[in-house]
Amino acid sequence: MDDEGLRVEVYRVLAATGRAPDTGALAAATGLTAEAVRAGLDRLAAARHVVLGDAGGIVMAHPFATVPLGFSVMGRETLWWGGCAWDSFALPHLLPAEPEVLVATRCPGCGAALAWVVGRDEPPPGDQVAHFLIPVRRIWDDVVRTCGNQRLFCSEGCVGAWLAATGNERGYVMDLPALWRLARHWYDGRLERGYQRREPVQAAAYFAEAGLRGPFWGL
Ligand SMILES: [Zn+2]
Ligand SMILES: [Zn+2]
Repeated sequence: MDDEGLRVEVYRVLAATGRAPDTGALAAATGLTAEAVRAGLDRLAAARHVVLGDAGGIVMAHPFATVPLGFSVMGRETLWWGGCAWDSFALPHLLPAEPEVLVATRCPGCGAALAWVVGRDEPPPGDQVAHFLIPVRRIWDDVVRTCGNQRLFCSEGCVGAWLAATGNERGYVMDLPALWRLARHWYDGRLERGYQRREPVQAAAYFAEAGLRGPFWGL
C-alpha cells in the first residue's frame, strides 16, 4: 500500500461517512502497521493532501473537514462538516451519489441563518455574497484559519459590519454564481488514484475562467 492508496482510503471514508478514519481503521483497511499509517499520514500532510491536528488525527482533507468551521452539508444519508464556503459548494460536484446537498451556515455579520440547496447544474438562487479573507498566495500559511474565514454573508453590508467588528481588512467578495463556478471543478479527481493537487498559486487560468479577478487570486 503506497501513500496514494492511503490517501484514497482516507477520502473514501470521509466521502461515505463524513468522519475521518483513525489510525486503527486505516491500518485494518490497508494492511499497514499503525506506525506505517502514521508515517504515511505525515507524508500526506507534508504534501498538503491532509491537515493533521496536534494528536495526529485528520482535521481536514479538502474539501472535507472534521471540525466545525461554520458550515454543515447535508446529503441524502450523510452529514458533513463543510470546511468553508468553497469546500461546501464543492461537495455535490465531487460525490457521485449526491447531486444536491443542503449547505447551511450563519452570517458572520448578523448571525442570520442561511441555507441553499446546491447542485451540479446551476448556481443556487440568492443574492448573498461570499467573502474570502486570505489571498491565494497565503492560503497555506494557516489553512484551517483560511478556511474558517471563507464565509457566506447576507449582503455586502454584513461583510462590512463583520470587517469593522473584527478589525480585518477586506479580502475578496463574490456572488453565489462565482462561488459555485470556483467550487465546480476545483477538486475534480480527488477521490481517485493518481490525483494531482492544484496549488492555488498555479491556478490562475482556473480562477480566471470562474470569473475571478485581481491580485487576490494571483491574477
Ligand atoms: Zn447578515
Ligand atoms: Zn476551505
